[in-house]
Amino acid sequence: MPLTFYTAEIIDIVDEVPNVKRFFFRIEELNKCDFIPGQFTMLDLPIDCKQTTRAYSIASAPSTSENTFELVIVLKDGGLGTTYLFNKAKKGDKLKVSVPIGKFGKPRPDLFEKELCFVCTGTGIAPFRSMLLDILNYKIPHKGITLISGSRYEKDLLYRKEMEELQEKLPGFKYIPVLSRENSVDWKGEKGYVHEIYKSLYKDKIDIQFYICGWKVMILEAVENLKQMGFKKADVKYELYD
Ligand SMILES: Cc1cc2nc3c(=O)[nH]c(=O)nc-3n(C[C@H](O)[C@H](O)[C@H](O)COP(=O)(O)OP(=O)(O)OC[C@H]3O[C@@H](n4cnc5c(N)ncnc54)[C@H](O)[C@@H]3O)c2cc1C
Repeated sequence: MPLTFYTAEIIDIVDEVPNVKRFFFRIEELNKCDFIPGQFTMLDLPIDCKQTTRAYSIASAPSTSENTFELVIVLKDGGLGTTYLFNKAKKGDKLKVSVPIGKFGKPRPDLFEKELCFVCTGTGIAPFRSMLLDILNYKIPHKGITLISGSRYEKDLLYRKEMEELQEKLPGFKYIPVLSRENSVDWKGEKGYVHEIYKSLYKDKIDIQFYICGWKVMILEAVENLKQMGFKKADVKYELYD
């Protein structure tokens, strides 16, 4: 069945970290942007008189009172869609966006029977931000949530302040940023790749549900590692960006 598209106005564009922007949209045709946290939308971009469609995870929480939503997008060197979004798209522009799609998240209220581990790199944090804010908004019971968020440098960490604050607001939530290339002595947090973190945290645990999101290389490595650690296919859900 063909996807339904709405017209969405860009209501704001905000620099998050170098080469990553937050895009805020409003859909006039709707009075709410409700969806399953973890879903993505297809953006139809008018590039060189051709429609070019790209998928983006919704980074905001579902809302029953607002017709707005947020995407967080990294500029890809030589990428058609992101070059358009970063260089041409501006506040007030109208773009076609699809209805939310994808099965990465879980509908309320059947979240979450097991302790959760969210693993991401870069903009792969988007669906987890949506899920975490939804859990907070609806006080959804959970058995503990760890977010392992990988970036190269400290300056690249997305939603860092918000995630640090969420640790205070959301009982049982732990945020672990991990940097693969940071050399500054001021960085006192984890260094290396996301893989080392879950390997060490869960070496003696098996009752964990993993959600992994980001680019292909990281995900394939994580899926293989978790299999080696004894986790079953159903314990590991992932969303590939590439
Ligand atoms: C379900 C899903 C959710 C996603 N969510 C997000 C999200 O929340 N945030 C986000 O930032 N991204 C997300 N993505 C990725 C997004 O859909 C795009 O793939 C990404 O933005 C790149 O699009 P682009 O048009 O700029 O790059 P493309 O033009 O598609 O190119 C991709 C890469 O290939 C290279 N390339 C292109 N053409 C050539 C060529 N001829 N030779 C060699 N190399 C080439 C480019 O340099 C670029 O690095 C998601 C993807 C999926 C599938």
